[in-house]
Amino acid sequence: MRIVETSLISSTGNLEKIPEPSFPEIAFAGRSNVGKSSLLNALSNRKGLFKVSSTPGRTRTIVHVKARLDSDAEIYLVDLPGYGYAKVSRDAKESWAKFMHEYLKDRPTLHLVVILVDIRRGPQTEEIDFIEFLEEVEVPALIVATKLDKIANSKQKSVLDKLQKDTGINVIGTSATSKKGIEQLLKTIVHHCHL
Ligand code: GDP
Repeated sequence: MRIVETSLISSTGNLEKIPEPSFPEIAFAGRSNVGKSSLLNALSNRKGLFKVSSTPGRTRTIVHVKARLDSDAEIYLVDLPGYGYAKVSRDAKESWAKFMHEYLKDRPTLHLVVILVDIRRGPQTEEIDFIEFLEEVEVPALIVATKLDKIANSKQKSVLDKLQKDTGINVIGTSATSKKGIEQLLKTIVHHCHL
């Protein structure tokens, strides 16, 4: 199973401008530098579709990319802004944070939110807050631990198990560098989209 074609549909900070909910979609969230662009590129078999950046905190838009699988099924991969889900920003009602929450709450075709966590750091307050928020709005969540190659093979299983135990959410370990876990992630996505 693989993604054979991708196209950028929109990148916007305006809820009225996001595409019609025509395909099942999977959204990806994570703090800057967690490896989100690298993971999305690895998943899409593309190099520069999602921008790998060294400057943190740039985007405040929601990006929709249409992906076609080898089965011909089509889904949206959705790149969420790097932050905006901490309780503080929720309370502050900054427009972009509000925008992201509105999207997550009201998107009928949203099947899963993938929360990226650096395997070496584990979840921080923002991620825990975000998990709580997704539970409130009843959107299924999956944790993807990134940069698995940064820890020894012998330690990977125990770290992943602990992450799952601590958060109560299913965890998949991945590396955009070695491509480990990428196929498992795609299978999980397809399963959640009922394809
Ligand atoms: P984003 O800000 O979350 O989109 O993160 P990027 O994809 O831009 O990656 C941030 C940095 O981490 C870059 O220097 C990447 O090369 C590096 N990186 C991303 N994924 C991996 C991985 O799986 N393994 C290793 N070793 N480095 C990674």
